[in-house]
Parts: sequence; structure tokens; C-alpha cells
Amino acid sequence: MEVVKNIVLIAHDNRKEDLLEWVHFNKGTLAKHHLSATGTTGRMIQEKIQLPVFRFISGPLGGDQQIGSKIVEDGIDFMVFFWDPLSAQPHDPDVKALLRIAVLYNIPMACNRSSADFLISSPLMEKEYNRQLIDYGNRIPTKH
Ligand code: PGA
Repeated sequence: MEVVKNIVLIAHDNRKEDLLEWVHFNKGTLAKHHLSATGTTGRMIQEKIQLPVFRFISGPLGGDQQIGSKIVEDGIDFMVFFWDPLSAQPHDPDVKALLRIAVLYNIPMACNRSSADFLISSPLMEKEYNRQLIDYGNRIPTKH
């Protein structure tokens, strides 16, 4: 991945305030990168923090799946996803699928504030980075 990274930001409703606070605190750093977000999260970042954000569809309407497919296409380098550990979501299967794809493609991912703080302050944020992918093709037995 390049020095300027494609960062995606997502927060479930009960975590939006927390994510907005984190984005506000890190506005200067985040402004150096390309930001995207699910629909409502993105709108709130644009309105409250005045950062440019590409907006996918809202999460429950398919935004998580759009982001998953963007990861597969190598269009996302870094994900901050404050999912809600206390409420079931109507799109829980999509959330699980997105988390799975992010792990599969070795995407740096923060799902809480401390992890997000550690990631954003990493020296690797200002460098190119070779995100290695495991060749799962050789591990999955093919069916005939
Ligand atoms: P939202 O989606 O930003 O559109 O609320 C987040 C989510 O629930 O995945």
C-alpha cells in the first residue's frame, strides 16, 4: 500500500459518537489520506468534522457488502469499524462477512478506540507497506 492510504470508517449507531470523537481528534492525520465510510457514518463525518469522505450505501442497505467487495478489489488499505458489541444488527451477516474478508485480505483493522489509536500512530502510516497475502489456494483442497 502507498503512503497515502485508502481508509474506510464505519460505526454502528451506538458507536457513532465514539467514532466521530476519534475522527475529530485525528483530523489532521486523516486529512492526509483518502477517506470513505458507510452512508450515515460518512454523512456525519462530512457535516460535523468537515472532512471529505466518499460515501458507500448505508450499512444495513448493503454498504458493508460494498466495502467487502472493495477490499477484494484492493481498494481499501485500512479499516476502522466500531461495531456495537451490545446490540444485534439487522445486517449481522453482512458485518460478519466484512470482518471475515478484512482478515482474509490482511487489512489492518481497528474495532475499538485503543486499537484505532495504536494503528493511526504507527510509523507505517507514513510509509509504503507490503501487505502480504496468504496463498489460500494451496491450502484449500479442490473438489472434483
Ligand atoms: P451507517 O452504516 O454508517 O450507514 O449507519 C453503518 C453500519 O451499520 O454498518
